[in-house]
Amino acid sequence: MTIRVVLATRNEHKVDEVRRILADAEQGITAAIDIIPATQFPDAPEVIEDGATFAANAALKAVALAQFTGLPAIADDSGLCVDALNGMPGIFSARWSGWQGDAGRDLANLQLVLAQTADVPDSRRGASFHCAVALALPDGQVRVVEGRVDGRLIREPRGQQGFGYDPIFVADGSDRTTAELAPAEKDAISHRGRALRALLPVLQEVLGQP
Ligand code: IMP
Repeated sequence: MTIRVVLATRNEHKVDEVRRILADAEQGITAAIDIIPATQFPDAPEVIEDGATFAANAALKAVALAQFTGLPAIADDSGLCVDALNGMPGIFSARWSGWQGDAGRDLANLQLVLAQTADVPDSRRGASFHCAVALALPDGQVRVVEGRVDGRLIREPRGQQGFGYDPIFVADGSDRTTAELAPAEKDAISHRGRALRALLPVLQEVLGQP
């Protein structure tokens, strides 16, 4: 039996990452989960992400999609927290630069963070990626798990993989940006990888072992 689970994102990179991470996980349940992107429900309402935390925003998105589709829904909310910017962009990571439209937005965001931290010395360039993943069921149950990866910001973008702020983030213990890591290498350490792996036992518990 396959369990259909809707994923509340229109970001293709995220859909790929979620499918890959859940498929790679060893728990038996993942083989039985069919991840359906929210783009298959074009009439699903746009959710206003007005929560104060990653967890609150992830839950808002998952609950809305579970209610609309009648299917279990997974939503993530994620972002970059920069120590020297008092944890910002944080939940505002996707729209930090105010750039309208999708094309060019990641680059505008990244360039703004680089400009804002231009005078911050190497000793204070700490940053972390955070991810909250919520699973909502049509009956109203909601569970949220979180993951993070600590590291630092470099001064010039490097690497072609990944998306968003990846070209300027180097995880602790690495000398490459997350945009220079192969997808599987990024999954192994990433905030989203960690959160999704933490979701597996929850999926197992809530949806049951098929
Ligand atoms: P969300 O779609 O509201 O979760 O926004 C997440 C934003 O945070 C993205 O648009 C990126 O700017 C940033 N972000 C989240 N995860 C990553 C990642 O894995 N790499 C680089 N940037 C990320």
